[in-house]
Amino acid sequence: AHIYPREKEGDYAGLIEGFENELKELQLNKQNFLEKLYFLLFKYTWSVPAQTERAGFYPDISLFAHLKLTAALGICLLSAKINCHKILTKLNEYWQNNKRSFLESIEKEKDFDIPIATLLLGDLSGIQSFIFNVPSKGAAKSLKGRSLYLEILLYVIAHYILKEFNLPLTNILYIGGGNFYLLLPPNKKDKLEKLQRKIDKVLFSAHKGQIWVGLAWEDLNIKDLLNPNRFAKKFGRDIHDKMQFHKMKKFKSEDIFNPFSASARRCEVCGEEAKIEEEEIKICEFCDSLRRLARELRKAKYFYLKETDIRKNYKTYKDVFSAFGYEAGFCEKLKDDTRCYLINEIPEKLNNNLVGFIFLPISLPLSEEGNVLSFEELVEKGKGAKQLGVLKIDLDNLGFILGKGWEKWEKEDFNKPCEDKQRESKLSISRIAFLSTMLSLFFNWQVAKLAERDEYKDSIYLIFSGGDDVFAVGAWERVFYFLKEIREKFEEFTKNELVTFSSSYLIVPTHFPVIRFSHLIEDGLAEAKGIEEDRKCPPPKNKGMFLNVCLDWGYKGKREDKTSVWELYEWIERIEKEAERDIEQFSRRLGLIAGVFSSGLREMKKGKLKGIEHVWRFAYGLRDWVKQYQNLVEDLVRLNQELIVEVWKEGEKKWLIAHPDFINLIARILNLKYRG
Ligand SMILES: [Zn+2]
Repeated sequence: AHIYPREKEGDYAGLIEGFENELKELQLNKQNFLEKLYFLLFKYTWSVPAQTERAGFYPDISLFAHLKLTAALGICLLSAKINCHKILTKLNEYWQNNKRSFLESIEKEKDFDIPIATLLLGDLSGIQSFIFNVPSKGAAKSLKGRSLYLEILLYVIAHYILKEFNLPLTNILYIGGGNFYLLLPPNKKDKLEKLQRKIDKVLFSAHKGQIWVGLAWEDLNIKDLLNPNRFAKKFGRDIHDKMQFHKMKKFKSEDIFNPFSASARRCEVCGEEAKIEEEEIKICEFCDSLRRLARELRKAKYFYLKETDIRKNYKTYKDVFSAFGYEAGFCEKLKDDTRCYLINEIPEKLNNNLVGFIFLPISLPLSEEGNVLSFEELVEKGKGAKQLGVLKIDLDNLGFILGKGWEKWEKEDFNKPCEDKQRESKLSISRIAFLSTMLSLFFNWQVAKLAERDEYKDSIYLIFSGGDDVFAVGAWERVFYFLKEIREKFEEFTKNELVTFSSSYLIVPTHFPVIRFSHLIEDGLAEAKGIEEDRKCPPPKNKGMFLNVCLDWGYKGKREDKTSVWELYEWIERIEKEAERDIEQFSRRLGLIAGVFSSGLREMKKGKLKGIEHVWRFAYGLRDWVKQYQNLVEDLVRLNQELIVEVWKEGEKKWLIAHPDFINLIARILNLKYRG
């Protein structure tokens, strides 16, 4: 399937024909009809616009999102026994009487205050320590299973809630990145409180407070649904305030996870009593079950979800799922007795138990014997130094994007005051549903597909990818280029220079404590994103942190910035190409003088040295190479001069336009690659 935008007329006739043919077949066999219809509509209408420019609308919501949300709301109205006819008649009157200030005019209407739906937020906390608090020895065996478990757990809990309210799949607005949003019928406080108690009980029994799924909700009325400002307040603020309050209360009242039990044989991962000893690591039955979950991925073609009897002890992850009434897992062949979803592909045809598809980052680097590669084995697959590259990517300005939609933006939109941004927000439930689907197509699907390609499949370990972020480790050099390729694809996918992500990348030895590199990478990302914190009202970010040097990503093909991340990749490629024969020595020399140069630049800032000295020192340092590589050396010397001028000009501001460590960073990466 093509998911990248192309300059081409849509083949609507072909889509309609395909849809009708498949629909006919579904009607012959009514098994799981509704769910299949949902995926059929997904398949054929996800990139068909719901409105057109000709009709006066910017087409940035898909027909699929529109249909899905219409159905979801319809069910809520039906279940609340609301007189839709009366409401619609009234709405129409208001519209006819006052098109220009319609939203203001409906404000005083009491009938529009009646709640017609509940927006439910489910939020998983404790993710980072749950996934990453594992011994570095054998970490590769544990990480994937732990991250996947949390992902499926949220999925199972969302389905459990839907089942409790007797709602179909349409009412999941969004699942990913550690939370979900559901649309439920209105006035369900008691029931939701009961469900929260149940979730608490199960997760506390299984995890002693290490992870927690909190529920927070807001009633929605007609005004909230029609007025983006009202909706933005509930979706963007109120519901999160409630969640925050809920969390604080929760963690005050309960014993927080205590990793030390009295037993000498305790699990080296979670502190529970260890039952299993494997390769000198003692782990408990639960943690071992998560390792087995990762092993299931070897032959995973389908994901399945099956209703099951409720179990009440929590020895393995399966028991936790079953406490919510589900069995979930992976299989190679379709199961006879339950619904299956094709992973990371759109099925040609749906049939009996193949009801749909799901995007999950299931790729895992394996040895020929089918074992998960250890960090030590992973780093062997890349060039140069045998070190581990750690990468985290995170979308910038998600809230702003959701409010803005995919409409063509101007750079000025970014710099408008907050009040204007709020006033112009177009936030709505269908825009959220659409944009989150688009993001999941990229982060859940395309990134995972990329990791499965030959260049990466045995050198990249994708710990998670979904929602709006990515976390990967692997051979440092492979990770470095994996990031480049993700970025290329991302720019191709969004075709919007203002939709960006920031990244953090570092290199550590393979035995480095996992929990520590997970914190370091987060800190790097936070620092990169916060570097312009003096901005009055965020957006921009678009930063790339590389080995503690923070650069602006820029945009591919636009060479405005001398030290952007794209320039970094370009320079490395150019030096490799032009100085190929002497790459080792050239890199070493460049490293030496660039190191002196960047510390010299800092001295220069303090007034201790003059810029002119650096110009000739740098040129002098490269003098031996002028004959062989005249162009390259001249351009490097020029870059160096430009950096001096820019650094001088920039005053006390941070190094964003011209980073004094830029040439040094180029040299460090080349040296890691060619000297090991
Ligand atoms: Zn354990």
